[in-house]
Amino acid sequence: MSGHKRMLLDVPRAPTSAERDLLSRLLSLDFPGRRELLAQLASAKVAVICPICPSIEFDIARTSPRAPVANGIPVEAEVERSNRGATHLLLHVADGYLSQLEVYADAEPTPHELPDPSELAIIVRR
Ligand SMILES: [Zn+2]
Repeated sequence: MSGHKRMLLDVPRAPTSAERDLLSRLLSLDFPGRRELLAQLASAKVAVICPICPSIEFDIARTSPRAPVANGIPVEAEVERSNRGATHLLLHVADGYLSQLEVYADAEPTPHELPDPSELAIIVRR
């Protein structure tokens, strides 16, 4: 989303099934806080979108359990694009709550769609 204009939704929406599938895949490997992030995802809303790329920011009920993550970006992933570098996905956690799924590409244009979850190479930061 860097350099892109954030768009705050008037009414936060539920994640799409593509977003949910991708987030489930990001949270498929174990790390501290994973279980709490999965619990947060169950009731997560999307509050901010980007008109250019699939980056989103979350609205998480503070009644959900806080995740004791060791890193502000506990998990990230990349997908190789032929001759164009990679698309990167970073899952940001702030104060123990899901904060943002950031998508950026090594080369413009940034893809409009989320990559297929099965294509992700996942990197966990414990
Ligand atoms: Zn963007």
